[in-house]
Amino acid sequence: MAIGPGLHIEDPTDPSLDLTMSEGARPVYDQVRTFIADEVEPVTLEFHRLGAERSDHWGYHPGQMEILDGLKTKAREVGLWNLFLPDSETGEGLSNLDYAYIASELGKNPLASESLNCSAPDTGNMEVLERVGTPEQKKRWLEPLLNGEIRSAYAMTEPDVASSDAKTLACRAVLDGDEWVINGTKYYISGAGDPRCKVMITMLQTSPDGPPHRRQSQILVPID
Ligand SMILES: Cc1cc2nc3c(=O)[nH]c(=O)nc-3n(C[C@H](O)[C@H](O)[C@H](O)COP(=O)(O)OP(=O)(O)OC[C@H]3O[C@@H](n4cnc5c(N)ncnc54)[C@H](O)[C@@H]3O)c2cc1C
Repeated sequence: MAIGPGLHIEDPTDPSLDLTMSEGARPVYDQVRTFIADEVEPVTLEFHRLGAERSDHWGYHPGQMEILDGLKTKAREVGLWNLFLPDSETGEGLSNLDYAYIASELGKNPLASESLNCSAPDTGNMEVLERVGTPEQKKRWLEPLLNGEIRSAYAMTEPDVASSDAKTLACRAVLDGDEWVINGTKYYISGAGDPRCKVMITMLQTSPDGPPHRRQSQILVPID
């Protein structure tokens, strides 16, 4: 039975159709809005004023780092930290739906997401590491990311191919002894130029003879 356009669900009372925020998430949502208004908004103009004085286009003025680190310390102290990780022990344990409302508030100020350690692409990268990372990868990359000590990038897009479709990616990785040798070009990689970016989750073609949807792997590429 078709319930409505695009809704291929048998039970119209299915709670997954309810897109309201849960009651339990409301206090965190209110706290985030208050934090942005009281702590983030007042320093935002100064952050951008200092940015105009920085010498490196990809880097930060020392005063900008002071502002950001100060906000991060305050956010962590009041428990507004890593809110993005759904159903996990390392995050707040919010559902993706509850977090969507918080993310829409964070998106209204350019410093808010990072202040709460909820910046893309770190958020998606941390989720990948948390869900499928080895203990060694978690120790090396996830821990400092969760602590807001480093940043990361996600590299999928390439010139000359339709990069929204991972099956088309051409950048190759070949195992040579115990090292992966990567050849190809990635571009439009957000945050890759940030001096704090230490790791890039990179989507690569590793099995060119496999079926199209099984040719790719993601390799953690250290930036240094
Ligand atoms: C501000 C910004 C930040 C970005 N940050 C990152 C980043 O951090 N990491 C990263 O990897 N990339 C990043 N990108 C790149 C972005 O994710 C890609 O541009 C996107 O995935 C689309 O790939 P493409 O540009 O190759 O477009 P294409 O894949 O060529 O798509 C172009 C258009 O064609 C359509 N299309 C594609 N294939 C088909 C098909 N088979 N049938 C019908 N229509 C189709 C698409 O819907 C789209 O409208 C960033 C881009 C911007 C603008």
